Amino acid sequence: MRHFEYIDGVMHAENVSLARIASEVGTPVYVYSRATLTRHFNVFKDAFKGRDVLIAYSVKANSNLAVLSLLGKLGAGADVVSGGELARALTAGIPASKIVFSGVGKKPAEMRAALTAGIRMFNVESEPELEALNDVAVSMGVRAPISFRVNPDVTAGGHEKISTGKAENKFGVAWSAAEDAYARAATLPGINIVGVDVHIGSQIDDLAPFKMAIDKVAGLIKRLRAAGHSIKIFDIGGGLGIPYGANAPAPPLPSEYGQMVKNATAHLGVQMVFEPGRMIAGNAGVLLSTVTYVKRGENRDFLIVDAAMNDLIRPALYDAYHEIEPIVAPKPETAQVLYDVVGPVCESGDTFTKQREFPQMNTGDVIVMHSAGAYGAVQAGQYNTRPLVPEVLVNGDLYAVVRDRPTVEEILKTESIPDWD
Ligand SMILES: *Cc1c(COP(=O)(O)O)cnc(C)c1O
Repeated sequence: MRHFEYIDGVMHAENVSLARIASEVGTPVYVYSRATLTRHFNVFKDAFKGRDVLIAYSVKANSNLAVLSLLGKLGAGADVVSGGELARALTAGIPASKIVFSGVGKKPAEMRAALTAGIRMFNVESEPELEALNDVAVSMGVRAPISFRVNPDVTAGGHEKISTGKAENKFGVAWSAAEDAYARAATLPGINIVGVDVHIGSQIDDLAPFKMAIDKVAGLIKRLRAAGHSIKIFDIGGGLGIPYGANAPAPPLPSEYGQMVKNATAHLGVQMVFEPGRMIAGNAGVLLSTVTYVKRGENRDFLIVDAAMNDLIRPALYDAYHEIEPIVAPKPETAQVLYDVVGPVCESGDTFTKQREFPQMNTGDVIVMHSAGAYGAVQAGQYNTRPLVPEVLVNGDLYAVVRDRPTVEEILKTESIPDWD
């Protein structure tokens, strides 16, 4: 069940008509469902009932403050990958004790901010980062709680650009170097070892790579404990896939994922941390866009819409598929037409889909691109001086604009022309 459905022939988010949002806020616009975000978080949480877990929502999937605040109230922590995301999570009211800090390039100022806040742990991704963190912690007179993100050399993830757990990826400490890294960390006065972390990729639609990574890390945890390290936390990362469209293959259910993880970790006596992003937010959001022109090409028809790759980059970046529907349900007699759906940006890559069958459409029709709640608005930019796309959160009969569309004047105000000639 999802909360984006036709009601009396018009697509709604919960009880709010998307036609109303399109006309009142304008398009393009992202719309999120509070009920869907809530349900996804609770389904994930319920999969681990009875176990000591921290669900540290991956902020980079959808970092809007309203989304973070909602998830925080439901009990979520946060997985952040920058000082900016740390500030967002704290501003949204997520307690520092539930925040973990991942990412390969943390800078000393970001480490300092996280230590000042008192976060749960740093997921350290290299030995140089460990040394830098130690220096910062010592200078502040504190100890930084750490896990190493280890790279289990497992192939997983829906696309080359979102696979992170292979030896050739930039992420994590190499499997063969992990025990030495822990040994070094144990000698440092500013470091407190608390756990082990792994994150192997995104949009994973099969339990096997997760199981393989968990079994490998379980063995590592035993060896680390035998070497005298105190390993209390096992951070299993995120990565569980979601269905993109009604006919897409269904990834494992959170309950199936939970059962597998519980079985595979039962003997370890660890607190588990998860970092789900896409699974929580992906199908909780849509992007609305208006058809600007229907263009007849030499040998194909184009729907030129007012959203573009700067608003939703996933198709251009990962060849991602988004289900697209008109927000007004087509009449049964409407002809089906093959369209390329494209944006107005001056790049051939600004294409949402090619040669897909749709009901015949006209200028002014509004379309909905589904499954756009994760890695959508967060990756938006202002290419072609297109103002950042706004975001709306729906709650039952209500909606609120939770990020404004900036004006072009506001964009231009951040730039200046030096007075040189
Ligand atoms: C991106 C990321 C996640 C979230 O991945 P999803 O596929 O959205 O669940 C979790 N942890 C880390 C370290 C990440 O980089």
